[in-house]
Amino acid sequence: MSSPTGAASPTHSLPSYLQADHLGPWGNYLQQVDRVTPYLGNLARWVETLKRPKRILIVDVPIELDNGTIAHYEGYRVQHNLSRGPGKGGVRFHQDVTLSEVMALSAWMSVKNAAVNVPYGGAKGGIRVDPKKLSMGELERLTRRYTSEIGLLIGPSKDIPAPDVNTNGQVMAWMMDTYSMNVGATATGVVTGKPVDLGGSLGRVEATGRGVFTVGVEAAKLTGLHLDGARVAVQGFGNVGGIAAKLFAEAGAKVVAVQDHTGTIFNSKGVDVPALLAHVKTRGGVGGFAGADVMKAEEFWGVDCEILIPAALEGQITKDNAGQIKAKLVIEGANGPTTTEADDILHDKGVLVLPDVIANAGGVTVSYFEWVQDFSSFFWSEDEINARLVRIMQEAFAGIWQVAQEHKVSLRTATFIVACQRILHAREMRGLYP
Ligand code: GLU
Repeated sequence: MSSPTGAASPTHSLPSYLQADHLGPWGNYLQQVDRVTPYLGNLARWVETLKRPKRILIVDVPIELDNGTIAHYEGYRVQHNLSRGPGKGGVRFHQDVTLSEVMALSAWMSVKNAAVNVPYGGAKGGIRVDPKKLSMGELERLTRRYTSEIGLLIGPSKDIPAPDVNTNGQVMAWMMDTYSMNVGATATGVVTGKPVDLGGSLGRVEATGRGVFTVGVEAAKLTGLHLDGARVAVQGFGNVGGIAAKLFAEAGAKVVAVQDHTGTIFNSKGVDVPALLAHVKTRGGVGGFAGADVMKAEEFWGVDCEILIPAALEGQITKDNAGQIKAKLVIEGANGPTTTEADDILHDKGVLVLPDVIANAGGVTVSYFEWVQDFSSFFWSEDEINARLVRIMQEAFAGIWQVAQEHKVSLRTATFIVACQRILHAREMRGLYP
């Protein structure tokens, strides 16, 4: 393979775990890097940097279960790139977590952080575990042991974890406490997404959903889509999908279909979003909600709607269902929800995709605010946080939109152009040492 500048790309010596597994998220990410390479100019000679995480740590996490047995879980922390600042990215607890998934998620954090220009590299962590099967005590022991094991890598100026799938403020509080006990001083800035009383930031819980809504509003303006009365379908009704749905409904849109791991529901008049949020809080999912009909899971993707928000896991929109999608706008609340093949199908159908690496960057943007507030021990009002968040998201999106127009590329490739230029420019200026 050779880059547009003719420099050889030495992919031959890749260790096996770095090979593209074409069906998985890491393979998906590598395809995205290949697509941006022709637009990187002289920086393309550094592009191999993006295809190799800087550091990968695999840890064994043993805990004593409540029944007295010892269980072992596999955990990871991957620092994909640190050229622009400390590592930053969440920690996921899920039964399907793999190393290559965490690698892809860490790489998408590098791109996302550069896209909104927060001064971080990209990192991600995870444990392969179904946390719903653990008691509160087991979850705490798992979190604390994992935090100690990755203590080699993390720190307020080294690598700062945050919530992701199945982790929350309580998990962050345990992580902060464990790290602090190990270093002998309270270090609130070691994680973000903490409870507000422990150095967390107002607005952080809602930030990713608010960012999804903000870019949605901007894209609607640019494409002449009216939000008032627009039909919205949402996959995933947690922090991201639930908040985005609430904000779209408040703007006059109708949330007609919602899917999560407990079921798929439909209401052509639009579900009562606050009532659904309350139901999910007590019941753990949308299943059993009285204010909508049950829908077959496979019919979700073909629902008549203007806006589709995948806000659950990666690899959901594939070549098998992309053709059914009727939405004009897809806003990726999840990381990596669309495979490259599906991305092409949507593009050919004229569906505008707002890619994860900008659409869900609101969470890490307010994580950055939290980290800055922790360092200065001076806390901002929620209005100030939301106003700064919206301004950053709008400016980043406008810049990406312009690059997409200029090069006649998708918004995903445009976001990668902006972000990868920033990352590789930092890489080049720093140079190789030692
Ligand atoms: N897990 C979130 C993401 O994927 C937030 C990461 C962070 O705040 O560091 O963007």
